[in-house]
Amino acid sequence: MKFDTKVVRASSKPDKTTGAVVPPIYQTATYVLEEVGRDKGYDYTRAANPSRQLLEEHLAAIEGAKYGICFSSGMSAVDSVLKLLKAGDHVVCSDDVYGGVSRHFNQVLVHYNLEFTYVNSSNVKEVEGAIQSNTKLLWIETPTNPLLKITNLHAMNKIAKDNSILFGVDATFSTPVFLRPLEFGADLVMHSTTKYLSGHNQIIGGSIHTDDKEIFDKMKFIQKTIGAVPSPFDCFLTMLGLRTLHLRMKRHNENAQAIAEFLESHPKVSRVAYPGLKSDPGHQVAKDQMLGFSGMISFELSGGIPAGKHLMNNVKLCFLAESLGSVETMITHPATMTHAEVPAEERHARGLTDGLVRLSVGIEDKEDIIEDLSKALEGC
Ligand code: PLP
Repeated sequence: MKFDTKVVRASSKPDKTTGAVVPPIYQTATYVLEEVGRDKGYDYTRAANPSRQLLEEHLAAIEGAKYGICFSSGMSAVDSVLKLLKAGDHVVCSDDVYGGVSRHFNQVLVHYNLEFTYVNSSNVKEVEGAIQSNTKLLWIETPTNPLLKITNLHAMNKIAKDNSILFGVDATFSTPVFLRPLEFGADLVMHSTTKYLSGHNQIIGGSIHTDDKEIFDKMKFIQKTIGAVPSPFDCFLTMLGLRTLHLRMKRHNENAQAIAEFLESHPKVSRVAYPGLKSDPGHQVAKDQMLGFSGMISFELSGGIPAGKHLMNNVKLCFLAESLGSVETMITHPATMTHAEVPAEERHARGLTDGLVRLSVGIEDKEDIIEDLSKALEGC
C-alpha cells in the first residue's frame, strides 16, 4: 500500500459479526475465559484491548514501524521510555523540548537519580560533547516546541551508534507524513497523539513505535505494569481522526507556509521561526530530511511583550488556547502557558523570550487566518 492508502486503510477490516465499516468500541475492563488457562487472546484491558490494538497496528503501519504501543498521554509515553533506564543513567536531551518534558525530567525523574544534560541539538558538536560514559539515551525533539529548531537525524544516529546509546525522537510536530525517524536509524519514535495524529482536539494520548522486538517487549511490559493506557473510546476517536491525517497535514503545511511568509513581511513582526522559510536556520536540514514543514510557527513582535499580548487578546478566529495540531488555528503564549514552569532564566537562555507567540495553523481558509492576524496586528 502507498502511504496515503495506509493512512486510510492500514487496519480497516469490516467487523466480523456485522460487517460494520467502523470497528466497534470494545468498552470492557475484562474478558470471560473459555476455561482455566484459555482465553481468546485478551484477559484484562490494562494488558490488551482490541480497540487499542487496532490503533497500535494502524499507527505502526503509518510510521513504517513493526510495533506500536499506545499510552494515555504523550507524557506517559515519554515517561515509559525513560523507564527503560536505571538509576545512575544519563540522558542527553534537546534543550528546546516541550516544557512538560523538561518539567518531568527536572522535577520528577532527577529524584530517581537520572541525570540530564540539555543541548542545542541543531549543533552536532554540542551533542557529541555532552555524551558521558553513563549516557544511555539521546532524546531529540524535531522540530522543537516552541522554537521549531531542526535537528539533523543522520548526525544524531551516528553519535548514538558510535556510543551504543538508545536514540529516541519525539516527532509530534512533524508527524509520519513529513518525517519517519526510524528511517534515519532511531531506535524509537514518540508522538503525542493528542496533536496532529488525532487532529481534532478530541483526546489526550501518546504512542511509541519501534522495529526492535526487545524494546517493544519492554515497552509492552511497562505499559501493562504501569497502566497508563488510553481508554477504548479514546482509541476509537483517535482512529476516526487519524484516517484523514495525510489530507490535513498537506493543508496545515500549505497554510503555515503562506502565514509564515505573511508574518515575515509584516512591519510589526521582528522574527519568524518556521522551517519552511528560506531564512530559517533549520531550513536546509528540514528540506533534506522532511517531506514538508508542518503547521507550527513561532514569532516575535517588534513591540515586545505588550504587542504580543495585544495580538493574542484581539484575534477572533484563532483560539487563544494550549495545545496544537488540531483543525482549528490556535495561538499560544509559551512563556505563560505551555512553558510556564520552565524557570524564566532557563527560558531566556534558550531563546524562549517572554514576547514569543506560537501559532498552530489550522486547516481553515488561509485568507481568513491572515485577515484575523492582520486586524489584530493593527493595534500592536
Ligand atoms: N511532546 C511534545 C512535542 C508536545 O508538544 C507535547 C504536548 O504539548 C507532549 C510531548 C506531551 O503530550 P501530551 O500533552 O499528550 O501529554
